[in-house]
Amino acid sequence: MTEHADASEAVRDAVLEAADRIEENKTHLTDLDSAIGDADHGANMSRGFGAVAERVAEMDDAEPHEIVKTVGTTIISEVGGAAGPLYGGSIMSASTELADGVTAETTVAFAEAYLEKLTDRGGARVGDKTMVDALTPAVHTYKKSIEVDGLDPLAALAKAVDAAERGVAYTVPLRARKGRASYLDWRSVGHQDPGATSTLILAEAILDVAAEHLDGDVERDARDPAVIRAEKEGLDLAEAVDGEEPEGAE
Ligand code: ADP
Ligand code: MG
Repeated sequence: MTEHADASEAVRDAVLEAADRIEENKTHLTDLDSAIGDADHGANMSRGFGAVAERVAEMDDAEPHEIVKTVGTTIISEVGGAAGPLYGGSIMSASTELADGVTAETTVAFAEAYLEKLTDRGGARVGDKTMVDALTPAVHTYKKSIEVDGLDPLAALAKAVDAAERGVAYTVPLRARKGRASYLDWRSVGHQDPGATSTLILAEAILDVAAEHLDGDVERDARDPAVIRAEKEGLDLAEAVDGEEPEGAE
């Protein structure tokens, strides 16, 4: 098989895995959105990625950037609300960065373009309690791991996923300043952001498929302690994060 065909297969697998995980987490995402939004994030993402999976499964001869562009255009056409156009538009725009193939360099460019488009469109910054809180540290970590630390793309991606996970935990104590959750103002504090969570789910799917295709071991050595505790003790992340407050703190 040619390199291009390998990359296309990896990208297609990553997209299909992402769609599966969104489906698995549909109720979870909806529950998160019901606490600080309108309880449709799971349904929105599942509708979008369901349509994406159908289209992408048939794209046998497509190049990687064409597959990624289809992900974006499909989400735009299927998903309304805030997250749909943000995800879809940013993926579509950033897909051109993969026109020369899928390499360490082009994936850094893709990640940066995706973050830039998303913040341009949505106007959210780190600290506003949105998907930007998971995405920004992930993209910065990926770029730095490759360009400064000289890690290979898989190791860099693992660090990026850990950064996204910490970003999700960081949304819990924040007050929302963008999107529907901002209507709740201080009442949004203490809840995990749904869009940051779906961003992490997508990043994890990409990491796991990249590990399979690159035949590499993934070291998740910088995971968020609150997330690990939540998993171990069967807690909601918000409970685990709250539980970390020092005694006597308000
Ligand atoms: P809606 O808020 O229209 O119901 P969704 O429920 O699908 O759309 O998505 C909600 C998520 O969208 C939020 O959890 C947040 O992460 C993200 N979001 C909302 N507004 C913005 C924005 N301006 N910039 C970035 N992300 C945003
Ligand atoms: Mg919603």
